[in-house]
Amino acid sequence: MASANPADAQDARLAAAKKAAEQIRAEEIRRDVDYLASDANMGRRTPHPGAPSPGYDSAAAYIAARLKTLGIKPMGDSGTYFQHYTVTRSTLDTTKVSAAIGAEPLQWGDDFVVNNFLIGGMREANVIYVGNGTRLLKQGVDPYAGFDIKGKWLLVNAPTAGGGRATAAAGGAAPPNVGRGGVPPGIVGVDYTTISEVARHGGALGIILVPTPALLARWTRAATVGQDLNPSVGIAYAQFQVPRIVLTAAALRRLLAGTGISADDVLAADSLGRYPASKDLGKRLKVDFVATVVEARPYNVVGLLEGSDPRLKEEWISLAAHLDGAVPAAASVPGNALPDQYNAADDNASGSAGNLAIVRALLAGPRPKRSILLIWDSGEEVGLWGTRTIAYGPWSEKLVLHVSNDMIGKSRPANSARNGELSAPDTIYITGPKVLSTNTEANLQKALKEFPFIKTDRVYEDIGSSFFYPRTDAGPYLERGILIMQFFNGSDSDYHRPTDEPQKLDIAKIVAVSKLSYGALWIAADDVNRPRWDGIVPSTLWWVTPKR
Ligand SMILES: [Zn+2]
Repeated sequence: MASANPADAQDARLAAAKKAAEQIRAEEIRRDVDYLASDANMGRRTPHPGAPSPGYDSAAAYIAARLKTLGIKPMGDSGTYFQHYTVTRSTLDTTKVSAAIGAEPLQWGDDFVVNNFLIGGMREANVIYVGNGTRLLKQGVDPYAGFDIKGKWLLVNAPTAGGGRATAAAGGAAPPNVGRGGVPPGIVGVDYTTISEVARHGGALGIILVPTPALLARWTRAATVGQDLNPSVGIAYAQFQVPRIVLTAAALRRLLAGTGISADDVLAADSLGRYPASKDLGKRLKVDFVATVVEARPYNVVGLLEGSDPRLKEEWISLAAHLDGAVPAAASVPGNALPDQYNAADDNASGSAGNLAIVRALLAGPRPKRSILLIWDSGEEVGLWGTRTIAYGPWSEKLVLHVSNDMIGKSRPANSARNGELSAPDTIYITGPKVLSTNTEANLQKALKEFPFIKTDRVYEDIGSSFFYPRTDAGPYLERGILIMQFFNGSDSDYHRPTDEPQKLDIAKIVAVSKLSYGALWIAADDVNRPRWDGIVPSTLWWVTPKR
């Protein structure tokens, strides 16, 4: 006798979804990773300005052909699966770059150099001196208090601005209010925020660095090439967002002349640990970053599986894997002029192939109520270009959860010594729901019960963890307040090396993680309740407002 009970109907849907997980099979995954990570695809490097990538094109065509065969709706340009975006590489013409304090010109090389920039162009605004630019949140130290920094140049003593990430862990250095350089102690967003982040989120025009011995030592190696998504949007590596120049001591004296701030005091501030009070200098600085520009049009592969519920299908959940591989920084074989080929099998042919298998399962099982945006993105390894394009584009309005499979094919051999942070064959790391979302965590626990193919380790799921941000591809989604759930096997000695080869993959693990990931995705997508970010924000994302 048929039951009219909706709970029974939902149980039957779940049972059918579990059955559909059998579509995730080792032989297809083996074939797909072997192809994607083959020598023929040359490491799937993202097309760059001046550097096309036939290997990426072949891998993307392979994914697109599969989506077409499966009848997935194309979401790219002009009815294709390819979503293009623009990246520019700007090379400063140092014979033409100009700067001036008011009407007084500054000379490139003699008075200033560019310390960092992404995109060329003219920038002109008033200058505000902001001490060492570090907010100490618990002590209530705020060098920006009373100033509107939007659109302004910030003159700063920032001994660490030349290197290291803004969000780097505390290094045991002296507190910034007593100088000595180094990253402030404690947790970013909880204990302190640095100049780079404040400048970016406050919309500052640029940063002027007070010279330090370290900056002067690098003077002739000034940054002259910038490359970024254009137009630029939020970036996980915050320090690169706002252009920076360095002045010589002599040029600094000209800038500070008549402002009431002593150049001697500013130059000595780091070593004394005592900074003059913040002040609008009442002077304008103009820098024209004259550059020659080369453009490229890389692309993501994107498709949509429409949800079955007429209302809930307008809420999307993304299922993503980055398709591109990194380029090793240098040859690992001495004497090789070029970097060795890096086939990027675990990072991330594994997730790319796993997600193809998940699409088969989604099509075989009951169609979930919400729509699934399928993403194989590019540019992950060079600045999260592809995900920034999506997270800052119009689809972000619809996205309620971002699921990412990034490195799901490696296992620490049983009984072997620990290899880096690599997980065991029966375990996968997950980050996201435990910290961010009560209802998504409950659904994940349900998935672990119904799809018990692998265990989880939540060691990186900590509110202060860089695995939330900025270490992963999910970063731009988090920046936009979109909830995330990431599957990751941990990295080992093959990470970003030519030895990340397909024969080293644990195919059974890709199968198991893909089944769990499919189950978690299906349950979240079919729940009448929307995945909700409760409101707790990881400390490295202190500026973010979660979507509610
Ligand atoms: Zn990766």
